[in-house]
Amino acid sequence: MSQQGYVATPPYSQAQPGMGGYQGGFGPGPAQPLYGHYGGPAQAFTAPPTGLMKSPVTSAAGMPPPPASSQYNPNVQQNGAHPQRYPVPPVVSSTYGQPPQPPYNSMASPGPPPAQQLTNQMSAMNLGNYGQASMQSPPPPASTVAQQPFQAPPPVGHPQMLPGLQSPHMSPQMPPPQSPQASMSMTGQPMAAPPMGGMGRPFPGAPPPGLGGFQQPGPGVAGPQGYPQQAGQFGGPMAGPQPGMPGAFPGAPAPMAGPPQKKLDPDSIPSITQVIEDDQVKHGGQVYSTNIRGQVPPLVTTDFTVQDQGNASPRFIRSTTYTLPCTADLAKQCQVPLASIIRPFASLPKNEAPLYVVNHGETGPIRCNRCKAYMCPYMQFIDGGRRYQCGFCNCVSEVPAFYFQHLDHMGRRVDFYERPELSVGSYEFVATLDYCKNNKPPNPPAYIFMIDVSYNNVKSGLVKLICDELKTLLEKLPREEGAESSAVKVGFVTYNKILHFYNVKSTLAQPQMMVVSDTAEMFVPLLDGFLVNYQDSRAVIYNLLDQIPDMFADTNESETVFAPVIQAGLEAFKAAECSGKLFVFHSSMPTAEAPGKLKNRDDKKLINTEKEKTLFQPQKGVYEQLSKDCVVQGCCVDLFLFPSQYVDLATMADVPSHTGGSVYKYNNFQVETDGEHFLRDLRKDVQKSIGFDAIMRVRTSTGFRATDFFGAIHMNNTTDVEMAAVDCDKALTVEYKHDDALSEETGAFIQCALLYTTVNGQRRLRIHNLSLNCSSQLLELYKSCETDSLINFFAKTAYRAILNQPLKNVREILVNQTAHMLACYRKNCASPSAASQLILPDAMKVFPVYMNSLMKTAPLMGSTELSTDDRAHQRLSVMGMGVEDTQLLLYPRLIPLHNMDASSEALPAPVRCSEERLADSGMFLLENGHSMFLWLGQASPPELVQSMFNLPSLAHLQGHVPALPELDNPLSKKVRSIISALLEKRPNSMKLQIVRQRDKPEVLFRQFLVEDKSLHGGSSYMDFLCYVHREIRQLLT
Ligand SMILES: [Zn+2]
Repeated sequence: MSQQGYVATPPYSQAQPGMGGYQGGFGPGPAQPLYGHYGGPAQAFTAPPTGLMKSPVTSAAGMPPPPASSQYNPNVQQNGAHPQRYPVPPVVSSTYGQPPQPPYNSMASPGPPPAQQLTNQMSAMNLGNYGQASMQSPPPPASTVAQQPFQAPPPVGHPQMLPGLQSPHMSPQMPPPQSPQASMSMTGQPMAAPPMGGMGRPFPGAPPPGLGGFQQPGPGVAGPQGYPQQAGQFGGPMAGPQPGMPGAFPGAPAPMAGPPQKKLDPDSIPSITQVIEDDQVKHGGQVYSTNIRGQVPPLVTTDFTVQDQGNASPRFIRSTTYTLPCTADLAKQCQVPLASIIRPFASLPKNEAPLYVVNHGETGPIRCNRCKAYMCPYMQFIDGGRRYQCGFCNCVSEVPAFYFQHLDHMGRRVDFYERPELSVGSYEFVATLDYCKNNKPPNPPAYIFMIDVSYNNVKSGLVKLICDELKTLLEKLPREEGAESSAVKVGFVTYNKILHFYNVKSTLAQPQMMVVSDTAEMFVPLLDGFLVNYQDSRAVIYNLLDQIPDMFADTNESETVFAPVIQAGLEAFKAAECSGKLFVFHSSMPTAEAPGKLKNRDDKKLINTEKEKTLFQPQKGVYEQLSKDCVVQGCCVDLFLFPSQYVDLATMADVPSHTGGSVYKYNNFQVETDGEHFLRDLRKDVQKSIGFDAIMRVRTSTGFRATDFFGAIHMNNTTDVEMAAVDCDKALTVEYKHDDALSEETGAFIQCALLYTTVNGQRRLRIHNLSLNCSSQLLELYKSCETDSLINFFAKTAYRAILNQPLKNVREILVNQTAHMLACYRKNCASPSAASQLILPDAMKVFPVYMNSLMKTAPLMGSTELSTDDRAHQRLSVMGMGVEDTQLLLYPRLIPLHNMDASSEALPAPVRCSEERLADSGMFLLENGHSMFLWLGQASPPELVQSMFNLPSLAHLQGHVPALPELDNPLSKKVRSIISALLEKRPNSMKLQIVRQRDKPEVLFRQFLVEDKSLHGGSSYMDFLCYVHREIRQLLT
């Protein structure tokens, strides 16, 4: 992405009073906050089984060191690319805990950078197709490098660059426009010291709570990362008045008494829509080959095709940065989280090859003798192919006789291309009985449909709707690729405060009901005939689904049980010795006398107090145990809730959120208005590709390891991630910490191995491998950051943290960390410039928008106007989300529809999520993956209203319009096709809400305009950016 001339008129006062709005929210936090993926007590790392112990490199002693080239990812060699990056002087001292000697530490004063620096800068600029150009070819001679910038093509899709400010900076030392940073002037205050003066000093600013602050670096530490980057110097410091800082979070003192705010041009600050568009222009429609270590993939929003050439597709794994810092000290200094977001079952587009399945028969997959890593492209064959060295622990193992193969002149096995486990990043192994429970092959999984038939659900028509839908939906149960029919078995339960089981054995003429009224000791009253093959029992099941709505038509029972329902499903799986999923359709808080009975504990008085966290905590006891038992059995729970009031979702969703399940919620459900929305969700959910009874292990090469995991998961120990099921939309986020120094030469490897049962009942191992770069230059790390992944990590850590501490602390830590990450870049990587310039790393320039949006989400907003259940629901949903989903959730698409070309196939370009982008005569579609709005300006022309609604004017558009009428004109057709394409693409269905400008329901829509000040007190993007800039300046002075 090219650098931009962001020049902003300073909108805020540097004076303290103006900042009052933030002081309550962002002041120094408690000395020991609990929220700490940094600084918190290190997670206990219990001694892993011997097979997992990382060994130091020297443990390979006795082995002749492999040839230098074998240190690299063989795929790099395979593709003929030079594996070496630009030459980097060796790190002189890389002892753990001590800063490495800087390779370049002589930058005491700004001056023309030596050739080596320019070479480095060139490599920073992403001139190649993907990733770093310098990795694909040796660096050009220095002399040409200095010239090259001016031959670079102009930036594509470039936003506003203020004329007049650009040219003075285009000096011969300027790198090409595609610079790794963006800058903008934010205030007129000059820095107290000469810019470079601060380079070698520690930040004197108050360290963020719990982070330990920036470590006092030893002499020379600031240097290594710190040769000045010459890019991004557009826009001189701007002088001017600095009016007050508006915007405050709830609970903070009333904002500002400062002078009126000066209007700032919103186009001058970094734009997400622009970043997305630029990436699409750059990478859209192209093939992305995964053959290069540490290359940064296109954005999640870009349409591209992946070719697996040795690293897992970014659809499976994304990383917060693709260059890890070499040492723990560097990691601590920059505070950029090191994490991967893994979506093991991500759906692949049709034009990408499905994963190969490798079958080694009874021998099973080949694994490292010591760390048990699976055979993969990072294993190095030596000794004529008789042995291989593990890329993770360096242990050398014998190649089993059946697997032996000769090496070619490159040292590569001659069967390289015939074996997916040697040549691609993602593949599967057929697991042997050793990988099965009790050494027995698993049975195919089962789906049990459990329908609450209490008064509300019957009366609303929901029960009938579900039964009717199941008749067709059961034809579409997931099946193995190529299989004629699904192997998944089905079963049916209805319940209110007692449970009814149904025998639907194929030989019966009529289904039989068996009632269990003792919900304290749940058991399944029948084994034979409860879980059946749908194809065999279709007639009986049809019969049952026809009868259920009538059987309960006259019910008066309004009380329900809940935990016993899950227990019943679990017992059925136990009896059938299978895993599977429960689909529970439930309406109310379970108040009937039974285990797991709940009572209303919603208390708005707790908002903005120390006890607010209790609203998010599930009730302990029954549900906690049930979660564990479900995970052991491989029983995933999907909950469809139809509440008309508070149901204690935090507790009711506890089991789903630990078993890889999903929770869907339809407030005040009405069949006419919400039926289609619910059915779309149900259809997607039932048909999803999914694996059951899963256990995942993330292995890493020496020097770092996975320390924390976030997702719809369960963990019994610190390394094994257990998931009763994992579907194509679930992702878990894995955080890494250093154990030791990492080597720039060897890089860092990650292997995610997921053992699971297929929908066919086959035990398999799905392996995803990813190789990352390592660098002792912080600049390299910042260049390789991925903002969308970072924000996924921050969302999950923050949403977990609010279980244990006040929201205020969590928000403070988010802001502090944002400022520290950016300040560290400014200090160590950016070229000297006036303090009034806000300088952002190019890869993170829209990070503040996302961060501000995250802090304005319902879970992190202490507002009594928000529903406790809705907040808990969002918190839990996000925990299982992948990068695509969090990106969209935190920055919705706002698509103008009024001026598009109805004959064009293309989707109109989205605009920024701000009221300023709306037009009174316009029509806009907004969606964030969970909500969808069609917004109509009050001056919408009658032709537009006529085309869309077949009504003469907007005034005729009254009441709820559940769906757009199907009208035969180009605009109507085009809008409906855009909407259905979006619904198809997203994991969840969305209910289209039509709002008119200035109508009351418009407030619902406005909360998604995330660049604006929020209704509940969150600040605007502009204000947040100014605040962060002020924090950065404090850190730097
Ligand atoms: Zn190993």
